[in-house]
Amino acid sequence: MNYNKKSIEDIDIAGKRVIARCDFNVPQDKSGAITDDNRIVQALPTIKYMVEKGCKVVLCSHLGKPHNVFDKEIKLNKKELAAIEKLPEAERQAATDAAIEKAKGDVKKFSLKPVADRLNEYLGGIVTFATDTVGEDAQAKVAAMKAGEIVLLENTRFTKGEEKNDPELAKKLAAFGDVFVNDAFGTAHRAHASTAGIADYLPAVCGYLIQKEITIMGNALENPKRPFIAILGGAKVSDKIGVINNLLDKVDMIIIGGGMAYTFLKATNHTIGTSIVEDDKLDVAREILAKAKANNVDFLIPVDNIVGRKYDPETPYMRIYSDAIPDGWMGLDIGPTTRELFAKSIIGAGTVIWNGPMGVSEWENFAAGTQAVAQAVAESGAISIVGGGDSAAAAQKLGFADKMTHISTGGGASLEFIEGKELPGIACLLDK
Ligand code: AMP
Repeated sequence: MNYNKKSIEDIDIAGKRVIARCDFNVPQDKSGAITDDNRIVQALPTIKYMVEKGCKVVLCSHLGKPHNVFDKEIKLNKKELAAIEKLPEAERQAATDAAIEKAKGDVKKFSLKPVADRLNEYLGGIVTFATDTVGEDAQAKVAAMKAGEIVLLENTRFTKGEEKNDPELAKKLAAFGDVFVNDAFGTAHRAHASTAGIADYLPAVCGYLIQKEITIMGNALENPKRPFIAILGGAKVSDKIGVINNLLDKVDMIIIGGGMAYTFLKATNHTIGTSIVEDDKLDVAREILAKAKANNVDFLIPVDNIVGRKYDPETPYMRIYSDAIPDGWMGLDIGPTTRELFAKSIIGAGTVIWNGPMGVSEWENFAAGTQAVAQAVAESGAISIVGGGDSAAAAQKLGFADKMTHISTGGGASLEFIEGKELPGIACLLDK
């Protein structure tokens, strides 16, 4: 993939109408209050630049996974329809009505209005909220804009065609601007109307956030300072096979922790008790190990573990070596010897990419492995890139976030980037 893309600084946007795709997919509590506005804060430099250039700025984003509530009829998704289909006939109508009521509730729950309010707090009241994405309200408010003003459109996923990358919707969005700026790295791996389709109709460049992501991660993959170490954890091997395969051609060492380690342990004839495992991936795990050997990549898997009786935060636990996990116990974190081994390997790295926790880090008793790795990465002095919600959260919680070179704003997108896949939201931008 070509990472050398034009940014907002590479074209003349002064005084123009700009439509910018941001990632305002912020977490909210049950009342709809924003619980973490980091994504809004991260979008501010690009927004401020456009305002300072006297642009008319139209912002758009998705939030959550709502139904197509602005279409005249509400369409239930496949999963809901399948669930209703399984019910006895007498119950189906009531279940359908309930699902439609819920969908109507989504209008409020997934509205970007709270984001508009928060933006106004940061930007001093220059943001107007449009109650639809490309409908009458949006059109009227965009038409009435003056230079240096902002209109935030309602959730793009409220509008039919967004996720199908419908050209008609892309055209309507494109009509709001002379230039398209994509700054939503978190959705750059999706080919949606507001992330990629729109670029068919306008000159397209990236904002500061995407520019930072692709520069840092692109450099790490293309021209890494060595030794280059990848640390991968999380629940499943299957999610990360592509990433591991791509990295095996680039890195000097791969460190595996978390639930996925048990598939590798089983593939190398260890007993793993009741640990999470993907039995259909044992051959893949063996192929990966063989490729690592052929490529001279050190491949570290846990030598000891914290095992629990069951998948429960309060379950009794003990430390056990990887060659002796007994029946009826499951690995829920890496053990102290492994923590030391991993930390020693990480200190002295030139570049580190870390994605995924070393254990069930949401639970205090099984968080030590992830914490140890976060600390080692922070203190390594390496160029450090952290992706994925759990690893980023661990770094943040422990106060190591500012010691990392880069914490990616996109979990899925950063994995696909590292995997070497072309991200539609980036591929569609003008080359430098
Ligand atoms: P992922 O989304 O693939 O990065 O996986 C993150 C999830 O993996 C977290 O929710 C962890 O609780 C889970 N996880 C990590 N280690 C284990 C383990 N040993 N057993 C079960 N789940 C795990």
